[in-house]
Amino acid sequence: MIKEINYIDDSYLYESIPSWCPENNLFIIRIKKHMRYIIMLLALSIVSCKTNSQDKAMKTAPSTDNITIDFSKIDLSKITKSEKEWKSELTDQEYYVIREKGTERAFTGDYVSNKKDGVYTCKACQLPLFTSTTKFKSGTGWPSYYQPIKKEVILEDTDHLLGYARTEVMCARCEGHLGHVFSDGPAPTGLRYCINSVSLDFVEKEKTNLRSGN
Ligand SMILES: [Zn+2]
Repeated sequence: MIKEINYIDDSYLYESIPSWCPENNLFIIRIKKHMRYIIMLLALSIVSCKTNSQDKAMKTAPSTDNITIDFSKIDLSKITKSEKEWKSELTDQEYYVIREKGTERAFTGDYVSNKKDGVYTCKACQLPLFTSTTKFKSGTGWPSYYQPIKKEVILEDTDHLLGYARTEVMCARCEGHLGHVFSDGPAPTGLRYCINSVSLDFVEKEKTNLRSGN
């Protein structure tokens, strides 16, 4: 007997398949029948996942695209001056922090809340050290950055001035004291460069002619 096939009646599918056939299974047959829609749904979910991960990456990736420093024009040779020379060039507070490894009082520095785009340079020799794109609000009272412009501009040393080991950071060109680096910073580096405002100058993004340092 020939059964009339109605497109919304799928019972013929099961009846036409022998009982020994593994395809005689309601679930498998329905999956096959709706395969086109399942593929469409899978494709949509893959596109959605990709878009979400791209959004996430954009939120966490360092945005260093808007400030670039041409280091080919900057002399990284050491600058050596006598303490007398430094004393004549720096204010008393600058000399205390930069040359005597002092610390400015928290929340008193010029750059703690500075949100302008630009470059932070060494107060003593004007070497570019940090950009505003890596500055973050740490709540500590000192300007904080998650990474320097490039690792070659920073020197590190261990100090025990407070009775325990800390990693001191200095300008690699003049060896002026900047502050310390700690491992409780945000992504992407997990580092917190805690820097004295007094050790820094700030050059707004528009003023690109950074001094060479001599
Ligand atoms: Zn310097």
